[in-house]
Amino acid sequence: MKAAIYRGAKDIRIEDVDKPTIQPGHCLVKVAYCGICGTDLHEYESGPILVPGKTPHPVTGCSLADGICLGHEFSGTIEEVGDNVAGDWKRGDRVVIEAVISCKECYACRSGCSNACAKLGFVGISGLGGGLAEYFLSPAEYLHRVPEGVSLRQAAMSEPLAVAVHAVRRSGFQKGQSALVLGAGPIGCFLTKVLIAQGASKVIISEPSSTRRSKAALAGAHHLFSPLEDDIPARVRELTGSDEGVDVAFEAAGNERALDAGIRSLKVRGTLLNVSVWSTPPKVDMNELVFKERSILGASCYKDDHPTVMHALGSGLIRLDDFISAVIPLEDLVDKGFRELLENNENHVKILVCPSGDMSL
Ligand SMILES: [Zn+2]
Ligand SMILES: [Zn+2]
Repeated sequence: MKAAIYRGAKDIRIEDVDKPTIQPGHCLVKVAYCGICGTDLHEYESGPILVPGKTPHPVTGCSLADGICLGHEFSGTIEEVGDNVAGDWKRGDRVVIEAVISCKECYACRSGCSNACAKLGFVGISGLGGGLAEYFLSPAEYLHRVPEGVSLRQAAMSEPLAVAVHAVRRSGFQKGQSALVLGAGPIGCFLTKVLIAQGASKVIISEPSSTRRSKAALAGAHHLFSPLEDDIPARVRELTGSDEGVDVAFEAAGNERALDAGIRSLKVRGTLLNVSVWSTPPKVDMNELVFKERSILGASCYKDDHPTVMHALGSGLIRLDDFISAVIPLEDLVDKGFRELLENNENHVKILVCPSGDMSL
């Protein structure tokens, strides 16, 4: 089968590799669509970062020397069901996979937080295959059924949608509350969709790029500001009440100014939820937390969020069609996928790759 194999920065090749053979407890999934994520882009640009370089990943035992098949945001259909598979999976079932790989032994895993595992890994990053290939051999426990009426294209975006659903849940957000989203990249846009679907009274966006602001507007954001032109905490108070602020803020920019504006935009006892991964530690004015009794929380990946995601997609509460900016065959992955995203990132939310070449699905 054809697979996109990552061998280091700027080195991804479409290679002919062995099609995986069915194993007990696994289902062989024929990949329909796989999204390219910012994480993949970072690996391509300046990796290996999360991809295990010289030291093999402690759970998968794989490293860069083996060649890593990328792709963790994908949908497909089951082609073969292995022995001893729990659940009623059968050939032809439409599925998405949950990409978190965990050790099942550490404190986090034992306490139901495998998304915070000490040996955390990911399908399509840590080895054992990925979605930028014609087939993926999936442990049955990673599978979730795609509801009827939801296209496999939309379903391919259920992974980043799960990240947003998890972040909103972790923030303690309640229906009717107001929210500020700092950064309108793909995750900022997914967060906006989730907040609107869950009944936010106001979703305010802070994003310097006008192209990205227009994507957030498409996602349903109520108010859009540029941190380069607007004093964000002041604009927030014009919208919420002169001494009030938002109930929750989401840091999805990974930038100190955005973090600071997010904290200052919170009401008393408000919560800032950080979804960004930081390359350098930011400075935080702790007195802004102390005297207003505000909280900062973190959220990583997802855990038990896929049922909510599948229900939101299946019921039509969330539609993601307008987030697909291009669909490309696997052969065009580097030129029309990675290079396009590096050069024209702002014009895209999601580029989907179709490894089988059958774009009728
Ligand atoms: Zn991702
Ligand atoms: Zn663990």
